[in-house]
Amino acid sequence: MRYKSLDELLRTYLLSQEEEGFKKRDNNWWYASELGTCLRKQFLRRLGIKGKEKQWRITFLAEQGKAIHNRIQDAIKNTGRLVAAEESIEDNDLRLKGRFDLIVNLNDKTEEPYLTLIDIKTQRPEAFFRRAKDPAKDKVKEFQKKQLASYFFFARRKYPDLKDARIYYMDRGGGAREEFVFKFKPETFKEILDELNLLNTYWKNKEIPPCKKDWECKDMCDLYKKQCELVKKGELTLDEFVSKFKRSPN
Ligand code: SF4
Repeated sequence: MRYKSLDELLRTYLLSQEEEGFKKRDNNWWYASELGTCLRKQFLRRLGIKGKEKQWRITFLAEQGKAIHNRIQDAIKNTGRLVAAEESIEDNDLRLKGRFDLIVNLNDKTEEPYLTLIDIKTQRPEAFFRRAKDPAKDKVKEFQKKQLASYFFFARRKYPDLKDARIYYMDRGGGAREEFVFKFKPETFKEILDELNLLNTYWKNKEIPPCKKDWECKDMCDLYKKQCELVKKGELTLDEFVSKFKRSPN
């Protein structure tokens, strides 16, 4: 078969990779990268509910993000300060899985190690500057802090000497960077455990968490809006809902 364009060839390849990944992935977990976001959204994703139509722009942006992550990881490795990269965290009792980006030793080999956990976030230029320049808003969203805290607390089981955790934002278009350092308190970990326990209670009771109806529905979740409407109107039971929307593994 002859492809009409390079773009078509690339899209076919990326789609096949995505399908392969989906078949192999065990979705039956909560993910650290989703903590702090709408409980219903996390619940529907774990159920394997289909989202909206594919947006190729988002796929290609994610590919750029991956390339930047890999380049930073390689560079840090070459400095000799890389302690861990792309390592998994898991808690079977809580059904939590995740994967942090990096743990880096900021100190020289002659000094006592200073280990920091890094979450790299690439952003489009407009998103980077909207976040960085708005004096009225916190520069790091609460849910991103929560996700970082979960990596920190679960990674500390293996790396008890971790001193802090950082979000390293990078502007994909212009190369600007911004770094935020966090030292989390035990109360933050309690919030994470509370959220996971709540999610697990909904899951055990087969109850879809309530509709959030806030900025997240508008700004961050065009994935499940249609499905949300149907649940809200009470038109479907959970079983009907799952059979209507669940993504087929093939
Ligand atoms: S549309 Fe809103 S309530 Fe529904 S899953 Fe998305 S964020 Fe949650």
